[in-house]
Amino acid sequence: MKMTFFSTQPYDKDFFKLYNENSGFELEFLETRLNAQTIGLIDQAEAICVFVNDQIDAAICKQLAEKKVKVIALRCAGFNNVDLGAARENGLKVCRVPAYSPEAVAEHAIAMILTLNRKTHKAYNRVREQNFSLNGLLGFNLHGRTVGVIGTGNIGQAFCRIMLGFGCKVMAFDLIANRDLEALGVSYHPLMEVFQQSDIVSLHCPLNEQTQHLINNGTIAMMKKGVMLINTSRGGLIDTPCVIAALKTGHISYLGIDVYEQEEKLFFRDLSTNIIEDDTIQRLMSFPNVLVTAHQAFFTHEALEQIATTTLNNVQQLLQTGNLTHKAALLV
Ligand code: NAD
Repeated sequence: MKMTFFSTQPYDKDFFKLYNENSGFELEFLETRLNAQTIGLIDQAEAICVFVNDQIDAAICKQLAEKKVKVIALRCAGFNNVDLGAARENGLKVCRVPAYSPEAVAEHAIAMILTLNRKTHKAYNRVREQNFSLNGLLGFNLHGRTVGVIGTGNIGQAFCRIMLGFGCKVMAFDLIANRDLEALGVSYHPLMEVFQQSDIVSLHCPLNEQTQHLINNGTIAMMKKGVMLINTSRGGLIDTPCVIAALKTGHISYLGIDVYEQEEKLFFRDLSTNIIEDDTIQRLMSFPNVLVTAHQAFFTHEALEQIATTTLNNVQQLLQTGNLTHKAALLV
């Protein structure tokens, strides 16, 4: 059974080859994204494996079915880049890795908070140049601060637990309240209240029609002046020009993003000798109080191991039985 990978990085190959020893698939690794120009590269594969920036729209689904592909395996949790309706209509099965390491993403969100607050990235460079001054490095105690968490699924829960450990007051908004988190001290409130009362807002909900540009001029205006905004979820949750305007006025005092709405043109590549044409990300990176990482929140050893084993298991089960025992992993 052949499985063709798109958007492959060297670490994908390493982990999938290692864990494929138990599955015995023929693995084909392509570095290119899956799109109308590259779909022709699929040759007799029963399954394809894609990542966050491969766009699987209705036309791609139709062509996949024509090529007798049976399974689209997402090696990630989010699935906003797949037209699930079109996949269903074309008889394709779609699976994902629902929770490979929520702690990996939650811990990265905390790394962003600590870096922005205590400016360790600046201190590192300063001290290496024998500048031992503290001017400009002033931070604030996290203990006692109010943290607003939007979306308390797998990652949001892990994030809440860590913030409670810091001694923060944790307020949350989700469509469904999590009783275990409430027992630990997290309180659920309407979205507006979370925005109004939080010193730090961290986004952990999926990108969909309801959450597209959740952070916009209206919701930023509700937030405290000086708020810290963290997005490790999906770039489309933020209307970036609105956030840039709020950074200019100082309404937003810190921004940490691991995801960016136009990231598919930039992330996961070395563009260090290129001219970046995207003026929006260039403007963002020019702020001293903005930290951008290139979709690396998931990137831990534990997560890659889990992604590889779950994906291979998903594909094997779907090809053999047409179903999955792990229901949250099956999208169509
Ligand atoms: P999850 O499905 O476990 O949790 C999502 C939560 O969001 C659920 O509790 C859901 O009820 C809630 N939600 C849905 N719609 C909402 C809305 N309108 N407002 C508020 N909450 C809403 O997902 P997860 O594993 O916690 O992942 C969350 C997101 O993180 C994913 O959708 C993905 O986009 C992103 N992610 C990013 C990385 C990274 O490397 N940066 C890695 C994995 C996942």
